[in-house]
Formats: sequence, C-alpha cells, structure tokens
Amino acid sequence: MKIALVGNQNSGKTTLFNVLTGMNAKIGNWPGVTIEKKTGIIKNTKHEITDLPGIYSLSPYSAEEEVSRKFIFDENIDVIINIVDSTSLERSLYLTTQLLELDCKVIVALNMADILEKKGGIIKEKTLEKILGIRVIKISALKETGIEELIKEIEISTIENTPYIYDVKIEQIIKEIESNLSNNIKHKRFIAVKLLENDERFEELNSYKIKNKVQEVSQYYDIDLEETIATQRYNFIEQAKRQAVTKIHNKESISDKLDKIFLNKFIAIPIFALIMFLIYYLSVGLVGSYTVQGISSIVEKVRETVVIILQNTGTSEWLESLVVDGIITGVGAVLGFVPQLVILFTCISILEATGYMSRIAILLDKIFRKIGLSGKSLIPFIIGSGCSVPGIMGTRIIENQDEREMTTILTPFIPCSAKLPIIALFSGYFFEEKAGLISASLYFLAIVIIIISAILMKKFIFKNTSSTYISELPEYKLPNIKYVAKDVFDKVLSFIKRAGSVIFICSIIIWFLVSFSFKLEYGVDVENSILATIGKTISWIFYPILGTKSWGAAVSAIQGLVAKEQVISSMSVIAGIAEDNVESQMFAEGNVFSFFTTSSAYAFMVFNLFSAPCFGAIGAMKRELGGTKKMLKAVLFQTIFAWILATITYQIGSRIENGTFNFVNSLIIAIIVGIIILIFINNQKENEKQCKNCAYSNSCNK
Ligand code: GDP
Ligand code: MG
Repeated sequence: MKIALVGNQNSGKTTLFNVLTGMNAKIGNWPGVTIEKKTGIIKNTKHEITDLPGIYSLSPYSAEEEVSRKFIFDENIDVIINIVDSTSLERSLYLTTQLLELDCKVIVALNMADILEKKGGIIKEKTLEKILGIRVIKISALKETGIEELIKEIEISTIENTPYIYDVKIEQIIKEIESNLSNNIKHKRFIAVKLLENDERFEELNSYKIKNKVQEVSQYYDIDLEETIATQRYNFIEQAKRQAVTKIHNKESISDKLDKIFLNKFIAIPIFALIMFLIYYLSVGLVGSYTVQGISSIVEKVRETVVIILQNTGTSEWLESLVVDGIITGVGAVLGFVPQLVILFTCISILEATGYMSRIAILLDKIFRKIGLSGKSLIPFIIGSGCSVPGIMGTRIIENQDEREMTTILTPFIPCSAKLPIIALFSGYFFEEKAGLISASLYFLAIVIIIISAILMKKFIFKNTSSTYISELPEYKLPNIKYVAKDVFDKVLSFIKRAGSVIFICSIIIWFLVSFSFKLEYGVDVENSILATIGKTISWIFYPILGTKSWGAAVSAIQGLVAKEQVISSMSVIAGIAEDNVESQMFAEGNVFSFFTTSSAYAFMVFNLFSAPCFGAIGAMKRELGGTKKMLKAVLFQTIFAWILATITYQIGSRIENGTFNFVNSLIIAIIVGIIILIFINNQKENEKQCKNCAYSNSCNK
C-alpha cells in the first residue's frame, strides 16, 4: 500500500516516519523543486510511506503545498496518515478538513499526546472520531506509544462518512458541482470545493454551468466564497474542539510564562535582536575569526605539501598551477565557511525546534508584511551580513514561495563580510577621516535598496506574498539533539557538495583565463591573458561608472563573482604591487588605477556591493529559487539595478565635483529611465500571468 504522511511543520512527521520505517529512508528531491523527499518501507510490512513537506493547507500558496497536493493527486495514495499536533489542534485540523474531502482513507494520528497531558488537557478521541467521521489514534512519536495500533489501522478498510462541514446551501451546491464533473475524476468533493473557492488551478475542470451555479450561490454571502468557506471550516473546527477537548486544570503552562517574556510588547524585539546578535557574534565573529585563520593555515599546509609532491613527481608547471592556484585556492576559500555554517545552522535549528522562531515570525510579521515580506525574511538578512550563502539557505524557513524567492533575491544586497575589503580600501583612501561615515552610508543604502526593490517586486512580480498565518502558537519544546545534529549535518553537507562544485568549476575557469592567452600560450603576461582581452572588450560597460575605460577595473569587478575579496586582490595583482602595501600605491600617480576620483570610487563600490553576488551565493540562489532561469533573472536584476545606481552615483557625483551639475537635465534623464523600467516590469508581469492558469496541469512544463 502507498501511504502519505501529511501534517503541519513541526507536528512530528519526521519523528513518526523514522519510528515507522526504522530510519531506513531514501532521501531525494521532488522533481523540479528543491524540497526534500523521504520515502521508506514501514517495518515488517510492505507498505511504502512518504514523508510529505510540512503544510498548513492544500491551497496553492507555497511550493510545499503544491508538492503535497500533486503527490496526493498523482500517486494514487491508499492511505493518508494525517499527523495532528494535539497542542495546536485548531491549526492542525484546518488541514484535516481539507484532507477529508479527498477520496482517500484518512487516519488522524493525534501526536504529542504526552505534552497535552502535561499541560492538563485531554482529547476525547472517540468524540473526535464521531465528528470527523474517521479513525483518530492517539500517539506519541517521540515516546513511541500508539504506534502498533496505528500500523494495524492502516490495513483495516473502513467506510468513512464525510462530515458536513459547511452550511446547507454550500453543501447543496457542492453536491451539484460534483454531479457535473465527469465520472472519471477522482476527489470530486475536493475539486468542487476548490471550484467554489475560485481556485485557478482547477480552471480546466470548470464549466459554464458550474460557473453560473457558483455565481448564483455567492450572492447569498456578504464576503466572497473563499472566505465564507474558510470561516465555516473554522466554525466546524471550533465546535469539534469544544466537544472533544477538556481541560482538567487551568494552570498557566511554562509556555505561557515564557511567552510573557519573549512576546512582551516592549522587550520582545530587543530580546530577538540580542539573540540574533549573539548568533551572529558566535558564528561569524568569534568562530569566524578563529577558524578563518586556522583553515587558511591548513589550506596553506595542503598547498605546500601538494607543491612538493607535484614537483617531486615532475609534474608540468601548468598542471601544478592549475591544482595549486586554481583548485586548492578556490575550494579552500569555500571550506573556510564550514565552521561558521555549523555554528549558525545549529543555533537556528535549535531556535526552530524550540518553537521560538514561530513566535518571532508572528512578531515581525506586521511590519514586514507592508513591503511584501514577512517576519521570517529578517533572519536571512541578518545572517547575510556575515555571508549571503547561509543567509540565502536560511530562506528555507519561509513557507510562502513568492516571499522565499523575494528574500533570496534581496539577501545579497546586504554587504557581506567579503565585501568589507572593498569598502575599507576605497573609503580609506578617498574619504580619509570620513571613511567610517562613508562605510555606514553604504549599509544604509543597502537597506534603502532592499525596501525599494521589495516594494517594486511585490507590486509587479510577486503578488502572492500573503502567507496564511494562523496565530495559534506551538508549545515551547526542548530541542531533540539527534534531530538538530542531523538537520545541521544535512544542510552543511549539501553546502559542501553544491557550493563546492560551483566554486570548483569556476576556480578552474578563472585560473585558465588568467593563465592563458587566446593563442593558448601558457604563462603569458597578465596584460595578454584571455581575461585581459575580455576585459578590454567589456571595459565600455564600466565607462559610465568610472568615466574611463579600464580593463583592470572591469576584470576585477567580474572576478568578484568568484569571491568579493577577489576584487581587491585582483586589482593589486594587476597594479603589480605587494599585498601589504595596497592602499598607498594602488591609486598613486602613474599607476593603472590612478584615474579613480572620489565619485568614481564611490560608484565602483556601489557596483561591486550591489551587483551579482559571488558564485557561491549564486549557486545558493539557484538552489533556493529552484532553477537556472529564475536565478539568471535574479542575477540580471541585481546587476542591472547596481549598474544603474552606480551610473547615477558617478554621473551626479562627478558633475558636482566639477561644478557642472545640471538639475533639469538629470531630471529628464531620470524620468526616461523610469519609464523604460516600468515598461520592462510590466512585460514581466504579463508573462507571469500567462503561466499561472496552467500551473496545475501536468502537461505544462513551464
Ligand atoms: P516535522 O516537522 O513534522 O517533521 O516534525 P519533527 O518530526 O521534526 O518533530 C518536531 C519536534 O517535535 C521534534 O523536536 C520532535 O522531537 C518533537 N516531537 C515529535 N513528536 C513528539 C511527541 O509525541 N512528543 C513530544 N514531546 N515531542 C515530539
Ligand atoms: Mg520533517
């Protein structure tokens, strides 16, 4: 038999899955999306069980929901085990009411029974069974109670009575729509409700007749049908809860007490800021400074050893350079992030497991919602100030797909620690005692850019950003060390594998471009390398930003793709100076970079800080956005945005510098550019619209 494990996030699905299968899971990804897939066989049986992603409803709001819905529809599931968190019955049962509408056997596994009892609550499962019309079995996945009964129940075939959830009028029309659907369609009741809710993804099943009926019935209600249906579902749940749950004693639970502190109107945000600061300090600051040195000395050792081995075996010079200057240097730089990631992921995983993250998300939700993000976006931003890669990977805690993608695109705008050398060098040399102020202005600019881009993206591209948050909070729990460890291990491993492979390949490419000329001669002067030749052909791109064509600056900016620190080291290699004396010589009279002025320096910083991030981050973006196409679009958006901003900076800055600034001309140009951008974004909007209607159908590969 085929069984699907469906439930909210943190309801204990994975715990139950591991108990049922004895942790013999096959882990992969769902085709086309980056959500993890686990399938296994229940111990001592032949039943195949799949741990579906945590969801709150079967509505098409997020990638997880889409995956779950597709799985249930396409895979011919025999049994759905709906795992319900007893301590947040209201939130859990919302999904249950939707599952009941499917033509599929549903068993409710009432999990966390142990916590509820500790809190002094009891659920009468027989009563709940009567109300829902399906079997309800009390279990504790953690303590492994009730598991046998659950497994037995899977094999028993029962006749289910779908309960009447809605009022007479809606129940009536559901029946009518069902009878209008063609016979071979499965899950008729579910689809009928979806058609009432005006769900676009079932549009192909809609007919003129059905539309008319829906139109007719909708006149009886003040609010639209989708909302009416949701309200009636909640009423049903409320009633079920009232009948099935009794509280023995009403003492204040530990969670309630903790919430008085963590959700306090005045100190909640400062506490959160403090916690995030500590995490940041721990992982990027403290551990970062210790480990970066440690690891680079290890890498240095490896490099020396490899050099000796290669020389002793008489390897040719170019191969040695490829291995040492290309691969070891490039991959070594990425491995440097690992200790920071371990700490970071551990802290975040613990915060998530304890239930604190859900609270913070609700807390910040109101503020962020105004610009199309939600509370959960803040966390990637904060982490991103250390490094965009874990920041972008942190977007996984966001359930709503649009919001997750927006956050993924916005996170690299936060200046990461690798961008610091750029800021330090240019501000230090050109702004001298005002260097601090200039650096701060760049961080401030980053925040402004994020807000503007978020507003633009929400308005024109991502319109579905309203995550369905339900305000019932889960209990605080002590984190389970085994799961935290596994979670961290999985995440770090995938970082090493994916970012590592991107960096590995890119390092080889850059090494090749610097070491060879177009005639494929090895060991040519940098000036004649392929990179320089390319630099000369593209240096015009930077003309509006720098006021001159400089292949060195162009090539260095592009090397920021490998790592942002690389911009500075590349410039010093090209300028032909020793690293420890960068500042004083780099821009000296007669040097290749002597053309830099205050305004072009600031503009160049703006470009490097806000254009496409490094390959590591681009790789992470690709993974989180779920495709090369979307990633390219995002990178293009970032780069064009940065280029426009840098151009404006230089064009205005240099004119102010020379005293030739003309306000009217600038205004006219700004208006023209604005109109072009609007037209571009509008086009984009149309494209997105066209694809939405067919998003449910299998035949559409878009
Ligand atoms: P998922 O997100 O649905 O896969 O949930 P997990 O299986 O990761 O469980 C979330 C947390 O709840 C973990 O820390 C589990 O240890 C804990 N948990 C799961 N089941 C129970 C239970 O029956 N009782 C208690 N006290 N904790 C549980
Ligand atoms: Mg899980």
